[in-house]
Amino acid sequence: MQYWTYTWNQNWEKLRHMAQNDAFDPTTPELSPSSRAIHTEAPADLGGAPLGIPLYQSQVYRFAKADQLADALAGPGAPFVYGRHGNPTVAAFEQAMADLEGGAAAWAAGSGMGAITSTVLGLLGAGDHVVAQNAIYGGTRTVLSDLAARWGLEVSYVDPTPDAVRAALRPNTRLVHLETIANPTGAVHDLKGIAAVAREAGAYTVVDNTFATPLLCRPIEHGADIVVHSATKYIGGHADVLGGVAVFADRGVLDTVWPRVAEYGSALDPFAAWLLARGLQTLGVRMRQHSANTLELATRLDRHPGVRRVHYPGLPDHPSHARATELLDGGYGGVLAFELDGGREAGRTFIEAVRLVSLSASLGDVKSLAMHPATVSHRHLTSEELAAAGIDEGLIRFSVGIEDVEDIWRDVDQALAHATGA
Ligand SMILES: *Cc1c(COP(=O)(O)O)cnc(C)c1O
Repeated sequence: MQYWTYTWNQNWEKLRHMAQNDAFDPTTPELSPSSRAIHTEAPADLGGAPLGIPLYQSQVYRFAKADQLADALAGPGAPFVYGRHGNPTVAAFEQAMADLEGGAAAWAAGSGMGAITSTVLGLLGAGDHVVAQNAIYGGTRTVLSDLAARWGLEVSYVDPTPDAVRAALRPNTRLVHLETIANPTGAVHDLKGIAAVAREAGAYTVVDNTFATPLLCRPIEHGADIVVHSATKYIGGHADVLGGVAVFADRGVLDTVWPRVAEYGSALDPFAAWLLARGLQTLGVRMRQHSANTLELATRLDRHPGVRRVHYPGLPDHPSHARATELLDGGYGGVLAFELDGGREAGRTFIEAVRLVSLSASLGDVKSLAMHPATVSHRHLTSEELAAAGIDEGLIRFSVGIEDVEDIWRDVDQALAHATGA
């Protein structure tokens, strides 16, 4: 994280330099009290470097020279000029994410979907073709399908193996969109093989790394061009901030999309960036605890007579276990899914019977969260449609928190008894 501190200090020096360029002294007694009240200045000399990331809430910057202001409007990496283009606190978060993912540059957005939509809109045009993993985050699917229906984007959904991606390629394929760990099956795909196929075809590989975080997997190391996150989940970790980020392996790609994404208007707010940068500081200990708790619960659920099947890549008999072990560092993440005996009604009973665990649509929180797709996110689907989508009616999606694992298990165990009688 030294790189982060270093570049942060550089930004601060840049700001201080610009303030000093300006001869105006706001404390001059010629000004009336009402004007002096408006022109309060931040301290220029801090003495030591700030240990916490400062929250730089200013959205507008002033300059002494016209050329300086004009240059500052030129692109990412230019001096800060206006909040939608950049902000020091947001830049600290972006630099930290670029550093952790092993990318050259990052661009933060007000939500994960903001990062995904801006990346897709920034890179693609009408008539371009996208290959996307079939079990993809619902919001991403909605955006891609809508762009296909209304804006002339072409989209193919595939079960993403290198061969399936190769078979789906068209001359106009520009982008392959994957997720490191698929929801709710926990499938981990052959990232390296797929990225190589995409590269050969001249297409970008975009990987949604929300479930793994850069502590478990850094897709750029395996050939991805762009990594996107819902930082709302593990990066923030406390259900109190919405945010997203796109990390670029090649700075030139960000330079290409930046003039557009800066105007699309999904910039991250500095306070949200401050919370996310703070969240990052405990990401290591949280991910270790999430992974350890989830493996323990997956193992116990697997042995429970009321549970038919557990989906977690950390279990030795999961179809992706070998690949997950190869791709993921130090754990298999904090999300598992399990199928209850008793179908839809058992699922509903379970999520209404938990107490410590919250019924919630999100994931990645320090608190344990559970959701039942058949009665919540996918309740409009018939039994046949659910089966076609590969979602069991008794399937529970479980985002395991970092509470004491015995407390979580006690709650899960009593809810299982309610739901299945076992
Ligand atoms: C939540 C989520 C998103 C969307 O992120 P928001 O911050 O809610 O906009 C995208 N991808 C995955 C995998 C997610 O879990």
